[in-house]
Amino acid sequence: MSLRVSTSLAQQVRTEAEKAFPEECCGFLIGRVPKDFHKHGRAVVVEEIKALPNGWEADARTHRYQIDPKIFAKTEAELSPRGLAIVGLYHSHPSVPAWPSPFDLMMAWPCFSYWIVCVRAGKAQESRSWMRSEDGQNFVEEEFVEE
Ligand SMILES: [Zn+2]
Repeated sequence: MSLRVSTSLAQQVRTEAEKAFPEECCGFLIGRVPKDFHKHGRAVVVEEIKALPNGWEADARTHRYQIDPKIFAKTEAELSPRGLAIVGLYHSHPSVPAWPSPFDLMMAWPCFSYWIVCVRAGKAQESRSWMRSEDGQNFVEEEFVEE
């Protein structure tokens, strides 16, 4: 399975991540929902991103992010007439690797791609993408393809 992103969108996310440092940035990944979205093995193509404010209090924003659930519904309603949907979330990991935290797992939705970009000393580093396992017990890494 894979998450496919154009270099220009990937660059936008890296810029967001660098601007937010030492806090986490976050946002929606938007695209067309593949028929086999729920299956491990599916490919998701990101067509747009939507940067969002990190909803935590300032002292927690360095290690977690939160998205207002009302923004989910509003964004889905705006995207649906265009045949698009939220297919995942991106967020940054300031000064820690691009591996999901236990908190990320607790908050993870099924099917979504979770793209994490690591930021060290204010510079965006590697990107990795993850999908929650069906039983919700862990994440499975998917291929991150920048093209
Ligand atoms: Zn995280």
